[in-house]
Amino acid sequence: MAVAAEPRHLRFAVIGAGMAGILSAIKLTEAGYTDFTVYEKADRPGGTWRENTYPGLACDVPSHLYSYSFALTPDWTHRYSPGPEIQTYFERVARDHDLDAHARFGDEVTRCAFADGRWHLTTASGHHDEVDVVVAATGVLHHPHVPALEGLDDFDGAAFHSSRWDHDVAIDGARVGVVGTGSTAVQIVGAIVDEVAHLSLFQRTAQWIMPQENPAYSAEERAEFRDDPTQLRGLHEKLCEQFDVFANAIVHADSPEMQLVERLCREHLEDAVHDPVLRERLRPSYRAACKRLVVSGRFYDAIQRPNAELVTEPIERIEARGVRTRDGALHELDVLVLATGFQAHAFMRPLEVVGRDGHTLTDEWKQRPSAYLSISIPHFPNFFMLNGPNGPVGNFSLIDVAELQFGYVLQLVDRLRAGECREVSPTEEATAALEAERTEAAKGTIWMTGCRSWYLDDRGVPAVWPFSFDRFRAEMAGPDLAAYDLR
Ligand SMILES: Cc1cc2nc3c(=O)[nH]c(=O)nc-3n(C[C@H](O)[C@H](O)[C@H](O)COP(=O)(O)OP(=O)(O)OC[C@H]3O[C@@H](n4cnc5c(N)ncnc54)[C@H](O)[C@@H]3O)c2cc1C
Repeated sequence: MAVAAEPRHLRFAVIGAGMAGILSAIKLTEAGYTDFTVYEKADRPGGTWRENTYPGLACDVPSHLYSYSFALTPDWTHRYSPGPEIQTYFERVARDHDLDAHARFGDEVTRCAFADGRWHLTTASGHHDEVDVVVAATGVLHHPHVPALEGLDDFDGAAFHSSRWDHDVAIDGARVGVVGTGSTAVQIVGAIVDEVAHLSLFQRTAQWIMPQENPAYSAEERAEFRDDPTQLRGLHEKLCEQFDVFANAIVHADSPEMQLVERLCREHLEDAVHDPVLRERLRPSYRAACKRLVVSGRFYDAIQRPNAELVTEPIERIEARGVRTRDGALHELDVLVLATGFQAHAFMRPLEVVGRDGHTLTDEWKQRPSAYLSISIPHFPNFFMLNGPNGPVGNFSLIDVAELQFGYVLQLVDRLRAGECREVSPTEEATAALEAERTEAAKGTIWMTGCRSWYLDDRGVPAVWPFSFDRFRAEMAGPDLAAYDLR
């Protein structure tokens, strides 16, 4: 009688304990993989929602969609719940699944090198680990982008990036400047205008703003969700369907849905901004959703308050007393907030990764980051990313994206466990072919209709998923093994 081979024992390292790292720990455990460590450089889980604590922070997709499908909660207070509530949610889910049992907090992974069929990890504290599989859940919007503003160090007031909000600095009654006009700046302006003495918003590029209502869920509604989980699941599924429509439309610049988005944004600007001169200064010169779509029901009202000022003159330099614009005006400030976004193309870097035969991530990504289906890289066996390069970052709830990606990764990992192969990585040919198709498809998307945005790579090609979300789901349903080098 043939004896079935023992499944291969696999040890994992998950890098990062944000939304995707917590997800990985839960799903690994569920699949029976219990030998893993989650490395997190901060002192607790949460990632984005731990780091960003600025006033007005909220989800810009509905909370009942921005939830793990396996941990829906009846407790969201608003349709788009505030940041601290989202952080509490992630911490609770992590606790409920005993993340601490596997987590190593306060230790940054600095190097991963593949040798003798395993990954050798080194951390900032000098700790070493040897694992079979690495899951890099290191985030997309993680490394702050601080613009090279001349004289920034000369500023006498407090200056900080929006993701490093200094809560020791009082803004109450202060003269506050905000640099940037993306989602973060818009949220901050709406939240602080009533508190500050004067607010100057330094706008380089105007943004289209989708009107957004943010009703609270009543105690009765929350009780109903609690008592009837099918209603809760029904809401999650309904929101998924609605977002599918948007996600499928955004990749077709001339779709009726995109035209509707544009009309709503235009009408919002016309209806909400009364002064025709201010309205024109707030009117973008490109199409709505070309940059990541900003949603707000408060911004236009806030920027029209008597204590608010829109500054469209370019910043010349920062001085001790404030911001000097190119027209020579000095905008005197006590606090300067840099809502200037993130290095969205850094991904796991500065982590040093050395794959098979000495291939380094530094070399592979010298031109620009790329990956097969955003998940894996040729010559880097058994190394998987969540929310990696060119993924559907502008299209959908990133939780759903990470869940689909992890389901896909698990199918490859299961092959390692079953002994079908010891190493799996995508072929160069499959990666190059998909990248060529992706680049071509990107030309038809709204992101390429004439604006500058963090979506664009060094060639001006959107570094995101340009196909429908249906295709993304289909790709994630199961790996095409012909695209892989299995050894
Ligand atoms: C202000 C803001 C608002 C957002 N709003 C939305 C929204 O409304 N909807 C939406 O879908 N998405 C939103 N996003 C995107 C958001 O980043 C994702 O939804 C999600 O939180 C990403 O989770 P993640 O785990 O992939 O990455 P992150 O949350 O960035 O977590 C990565 C973790 O990895 C850790 N890490 C990184 N490198 C290392 C290392 N070498 N060693 C150890 N630890 C490491 C980091 O410390 C961090 O904790 C928003 C992002 C920002 C910045």
